[in-house]
Amino acid sequence: MRFIFRVAATLQTAPEGVIDFRFQTKTDVQALLAEAGARPRHRWGQNFLIDGNLLRRLLTAAEIAPEDAVLEVGAGTGAVTDYLAEAAAAVVVVEIDPLLHELLDRRFSDRDNVTLLHGDVLTGKHEIRADVCDACRRAAVDVPGRLMLVANLPYNVATPLLIELLLDDCPFERFCFTVQRELADRFCASDHTKDYGPLTIIVHATCRVKRLAVLPPSVFWPRPKVESAMLRLDVDRNPFETPDGLRAFAELVHGGFAHRRKTLRYNLSRVLDDDALRTVEDEFDLSLRPEAIDVATWVHLGRRVVATRT
Ligand code: SAM
Repeated sequence: MRFIFRVAATLQTAPEGVIDFRFQTKTDVQALLAEAGARPRHRWGQNFLIDGNLLRRLLTAAEIAPEDAVLEVGAGTGAVTDYLAEAAAAVVVVEIDPLLHELLDRRFSDRDNVTLLHGDVLTGKHEIRADVCDACRRAAVDVPGRLMLVANLPYNVATPLLIELLLDDCPFERFCFTVQRELADRFCASDHTKDYGPLTIIVHATCRVKRLAVLPPSVFWPRPKVESAMLRLDVDRNPFETPDGLRAFAELVHGGFAHRRKTLRYNLSRVLDDDALRTVEDEFDLSLRPEAIDVATWVHLGRRVVATRT
C-alpha cells in the first residue's frame, strides 16, 4: 500500500496541453505490477500504454465533461482510470486480472465516483455481462451528462464488446479507444475492400468514425507485435429506430457476409424467407457480392427486410 502511494507520487507530469494529468512510465507500470505480485499476461492483452502524449490524445479526443459517465474496460494499473476519476462524474471500470483488480481497488476505493467490477466483461462470446450493463445504465441515469467508453481495449474482446454496446439499448454516445490497427482498418474500411464487412457496416450505419492516430509498438510495454490505432466513434443515429430493428439489421448483415465470395442472393437465401427475398430481389441487385454494396444501400435493404417483419 505504502509502495503504491510512493509510485503514484513519482508519476510523470504531462507537458503543458489541453489536459493536465500524470501518466505512467514503463518504470511506474513495472513497479505497480511488482507491488501487485503480477506480470504482464499476453492472453489478457496486457500491453500498457506508456506514452504520455498518446494517452493525452485519447483523453483530449474523448472530450469528457464533469457531468459525464465513462466506462473503461481493462483498467490495468489504472493509468487511464486515474484521469477518468478526476474528469468524470461517474466511472465504471472492469478488469479481468484478479491481481490488478486488487491493485485498482486499493488505488480507487476512496473514490465515490468509481465503480470497480472484477471479471470478464463478456459472458460467452457475444454478450456483455449484465452487471456491467446495469452499472452503465445506472450511471447514465444518475448523471446529467453523456455516457461514453474510454479505454485502451484488450484486443481479444474489442469487436464483440463494441458491437454489443452499439446494439444494446444502453445509451452510449461516444467510444474513444485504442485497438490493434488491423481491427481499426475494419472500422474505417470502404466498400469493395477486404476489410469491409459487418463491423464496418454496423458502425457506419450508426456512427461517425474518426481515426485519431496510429500507435507503433514502442508506445506500449511490453511491446505488442503489431501496430495499434486510436479511434473515436460518435453515435448519431439508429436508422431502424428501435434496438430490436438494429439488432435484426446486424443479423441480416452477418448473414449477408457468411460467404464473402458468393453472391448476395446465395447468402440472403439462407437467412430470409421467400417473401422477404422476393421483396428485396425487386429492388436490389442480388447478383453482387456483399462487399460491393455500400453502407447506405445495406441500410436501405435492411429497412425493407425489417419492414416485412413488422
Ligand atoms: N488501461 C491499461 C493501459 O492503458 O495501460 C491497460 C490496457 S491493456 C491493453 C488491457 C487490459 O484489459 C488489461 O489490464 C487486461 O487485464 C484487461 N482485460 C483483458 N481481457 C479482459 C476482459 N475480457 N474483461 C475485462 N478486462 C480485460
